[in-house]
Amino acid sequence: MMSGSYKGRHKLQRLQKPQSNRPVEDVVKELQQKQPRHPPYREQSFKIHGLICAKCAREFDESNKHLLTVHHKDGNHHNNPSNGSNWENLCVYCHDDEHSRGMLGDYLSS
Ligand SMILES: [Zn+2]
Ligand SMILES: [Zn+2]
Repeated sequence: MMSGSYKGRHKLQRLQKPQSNRPVEDVVKELQQKQPRHPPYREQSFKIHGLICAKCAREFDESNKHLLTVHHKDGNHHNNPSNGSNWENLCVYCHDDEHSRGMLGDYLSS
């Protein structure tokens, strides 16, 4: 007699991520609503380096500077020398590119 009719059933639990095809501005806006505080070094970095993206040289002003973010050259958000040597102002597009994927949300919420 063969009674081998039970197979190990394994259900794959997949987390379905909604596809994010929203414009990056939308995402940024949402993140900033959740996290209205900007890091204290942000304005300082803007003062030192100017409202300009260090990568694509796009210029910003008061009306759209929310699209400009502070990148840490050594990747350490806690390394904030007041002379700005570890900061680089990058627009969200270049910043996202710099971290190649997914890090920007992390950056904005930390
Ligand atoms: Zn840029
Ligand atoms: Zn960065």
